[in-house]
Amino acid sequence: MRGVTETLAVHDPTDGRVVGDAPTQSREEVQALATRLRAAQPAWEALGPKARAEHVGRLRDWVLDHQDELVTLLRSESGKSMPDAALEAMGIVDVMTFFAGKAESALADESQRPHGPLTMGKQLGVRRRPYPLVGIITPWNFPLTLPVMDAIPALLAGAAVMVKPSEYTPLALQRMVRAWNEDLGAPDVFALALGTGDVGESVVEVSDYVQFTGSTVTGRKIGVRCAERLIPCGLELGGKDPMLVLADANIERAANAAAWGGLVNSGQVCTSVERVYVESAVYDEFVDQLVERVRGLRHGPSATDDLRDVGAMANANQVDVVERHVNDAIASGARVLTGGRRGAGPGFSYEPTVLVDVDQDMLVMREETFGPVIPVMRVTDAEQAIELANDSPYGLSASVWTSSKDRGLAIARRLEVGAVNVNDVLSNLFAFGLPMGGWKRSGLGARLGGEDAIRKYCRSQAVTVARMTPATELAWYPYASWKTKLAGRIVRLSAARDLRRRLGV
Ligand code: NAD
Repeated sequence: MRGVTETLAVHDPTDGRVVGDAPTQSREEVQALATRLRAAQPAWEALGPKARAEHVGRLRDWVLDHQDELVTLLRSESGKSMPDAALEAMGIVDVMTFFAGKAESALADESQRPHGPLTMGKQLGVRRRPYPLVGIITPWNFPLTLPVMDAIPALLAGAAVMVKPSEYTPLALQRMVRAWNEDLGAPDVFALALGTGDVGESVVEVSDYVQFTGSTVTGRKIGVRCAERLIPCGLELGGKDPMLVLADANIERAANAAAWGGLVNSGQVCTSVERVYVESAVYDEFVDQLVERVRGLRHGPSATDDLRDVGAMANANQVDVVERHVNDAIASGARVLTGGRRGAGPGFSYEPTVLVDVDQDMLVMREETFGPVIPVMRVTDAEQAIELANDSPYGLSASVWTSSKDRGLAIARRLEVGAVNVNDVLSNLFAFGLPMGGWKRSGLGARLGGEDAIRKYCRSQAVTVARMTPATELAWYPYASWKTKLAGRIVRLSAARDLRRRLGV
């Protein structure tokens, strides 16, 4: 536990330059921050969803006016290519607009009709009240999108929000949260806790709900601690997403999708194409086209060149993981058709890589690689592709490629994953009305999903109101046998479907 405030240096992954720093918080400072946010939360909740949506709309307008500034910060801390960084800055605008438009309907009080004699004469309703303080802990691969996808629905729900971004990439988010508090003067319900994993632990200690995105190892620790504290959590964890290319697929589209889906953001996407199974009949054609696409990509770290297709990797550790997986595959008989080594020059990068002759037991087919590597495996038929796709502890998402929509949908039903894109790749990520959640070791719960994204940060409150208020009720004291008989008769009359049971004979 630190007693004094330390500073975290942030490096540009393209050349290692220090591009900024962020003060990190001690446990006591995180506790003090939580107290401050909790004090401001009741007034934020009392504002109501419409006024809260207006604050989010003002933040969205600020982002639109400061896109260049955010993209520059994002690139400097993550090494993203210009299009990858721009996609993030545009994506958060879409997130804010979408969820601001859902807040009122998501949080509207609901009324229910009494279902039977025991609730007759009562007014029944459900209200949604936010968890006062939501803690959000995020990784480095999407430093703006991931915190925004969780923080905006939580704020709209009426919660106060404390985000712990990755220690590698706090700068762009720090600027945006400063805009909320200082440029826009919005209520003091949105703040950052900065630092490494121990600051994340402190956030878990002070929150009423924890939303975590990151590795399965960290997610499990957080899940255990939340269980001990008896607070809910949502966990968005790692993946090993399969792509199933069937013999009747549009091979050109599938090859283009594998290249982009496997290499966008240098492969550092939780739902990247991490392994490809191709039916034997179209395997050679698919591999030829994929390799041609990948060889044509402009890659490598560059802070200034806006024409890169594949940017830097975020940190040295992730390059080591990629290298370990590729070397293990080569040692076990895989062939590299393009790439297969670290990028040249300063900074962290790995060349866009296509591997063939891989098998299911290699690290690159079993563990999350999280880098620009596309391993392709030949399968005899669709049945084998489905079996191998499901043979994984992960279950985040998958894609199926076939000219028959019905066949694609039927196969989707057999895949043990939280999302399936048919003839498409990563597209569920942009459909905010659909739930995004991992199955198996890829997570717990889901984010997004339209109104559910906001409701998940609320506790449901059941409310009953007596319409008539006699001095006593049939079920209350004093008990009498005539009352018991009468209650039984009423239940029988309402529940039974035939005359004998209605009369009780
Ligand atoms: P990580 O688990 O190492 O760290 C994630 C965050 O948790 C960081 O902010 C870190 O400081 C914090 N943290 C570390 N230890 C902690 C602890 N004990 N208690 C509380 N917080 C702690 O993950 P990473 O390397 O930053 O990110 C990569 C991982 O994120 C990959 O596995 C990827 O698949 C996953 N990811 C998942 C999704 C999804 O939606 N499913 C999206 C993006 C990334």
